[in-house]
Amino acid sequence: MAKGLKREQSAKLFEKAKTYFPGGVNSPVRAFKSVGGTPLFIEQGKGSRIWDADGNEYIDYCCSWGPLILGHCHPAIINKVKKTIDNGMSFGAPTRLENELAELILKNNPHIDKMRFVSSGTEAVMSAIRLARGYTKRNKIIKFDGCYHGHSDSLLVKAGSGLVTFGVSSSAGIPEAFARETIVLPLNDKKAVKAAFEDYKNDIACIIIEPVPANNGLLLQKRAFLEFLSDICAAKGSLLIFDEVISGFRLGFTGAAGYYNVQPDIVTYGKIIGGGMPVGAYAARNEIMKLISPDGNVYQAGTLSGNPVAMSAGIAQLTECLKKDFYKDLEAKTKRLVDGIMAAELSDESFRIFSIGSIFWPAFTHRKEITQSSQIDAGSMEKFKKLHAALLERKVYLGPSGYEVGFISAAHTDKDIDITIKAFREALQIALD
Ligand SMILES: *Cc1c(COP(=O)(O)O)cnc(C)c1O
Repeated sequence: MAKGLKREQSAKLFEKAKTYFPGGVNSPVRAFKSVGGTPLFIEQGKGSRIWDADGNEYIDYCCSWGPLILGHCHPAIINKVKKTIDNGMSFGAPTRLENELAELILKNNPHIDKMRFVSSGTEAVMSAIRLARGYTKRNKIIKFDGCYHGHSDSLLVKAGSGLVTFGVSSSAGIPEAFARETIVLPLNDKKAVKAAFEDYKNDIACIIIEPVPANNGLLLQKRAFLEFLSDICAAKGSLLIFDEVISGFRLGFTGAAGYYNVQPDIVTYGKIIGGGMPVGAYAARNEIMKLISPDGNVYQAGTLSGNPVAMSAGIAQLTECLKKDFYKDLEAKTKRLVDGIMAAELSDESFRIFSIGSIFWPAFTHRKEITQSSQIDAGSMEKFKKLHAALLERKVYLGPSGYEVGFISAAHTDKDIDITIKAFREALQIALD
């Protein structure tokens, strides 16, 4: 645990929280289990900065796990949300704000015709899978080891033994019968995908992938692999789902589909789309979306779907993202950070930062490329733990796990980044010691 960092208030709040919530949290990674010590309770955010309950200030690279691409409290979002709230929080009836956000997205994205708003990434993916099954009238789905798609039953499944086997559930409470409908394959492995299609011929409804896998390190895939997935799905009558809950509006306004120029059949969004409010969405071409109720017989609904306050935050945020050079500037900042840190003379060569767009992943590894989760050295997480603690002492906040990526927002200034480079270099000396 970081010494020199005041954590009395956070520690007190955490003790209380443990009496209210399992592990003291409402989402597991927040408990700081993998880095040790007390989670920081956050009181406030502004721009690139956050403040904890003990008054410590940090430069934030977690950004609420990705949604806050404009940083904290961007005035455009705050103003729009305040105006909307004055008219009421929710109606359970259509509002013009849903049209506005959908129009903003669909007009600027050639990969999708129609969409449906939901309230989380998990819900978006769960609905997309149902839609793929409804459309193809098939049951099995293929997912990849090292991709996270939220916590719905059919996706909390990990690889069984053998190259192509059905999965086993990765959480208690999921019937094995459900897990058997999910086939889990290694990323970046065409052979395994072909073998799965041979074994389960006409029963594969879809392949789902994070086109930029960023929930278990950053396992960058080649365009050719994504293209291969699209081709094999087309040939076999299966659908390709791009889970763009992280990469959507992050790699560019059209996400990974646009970045790699590969056309998925269904896309899921979350995180950035809601400007910090709980929003998810799934989208596809008309021919597929027309199966969703009330047009079609694939049922999906939500009391707070398209919530006006959440739509407002999304509209304000995505409007900023569409401004000229928005993504170019973010990428330049990320490059400044990564190059600045990697220019350090380190005591050994076992550290790298993988990055794409404005996503970065600090990893303790000798490998120049990591494309599969099996290539991540679990033992190296001890070094991450030291890095994390040393960075906190130097007022730099990364998500509390070495398997998580960092995010740069438009609010991060060159000065923030230069401070971070210095802090990182010092912290790395400690971690590599
Ligand atoms: C975060 C995430 C999800 C789940 O979204 P929630 O809003 O946490 O339910 C699904 N897929 C990917 C790729 C994600 O990064």
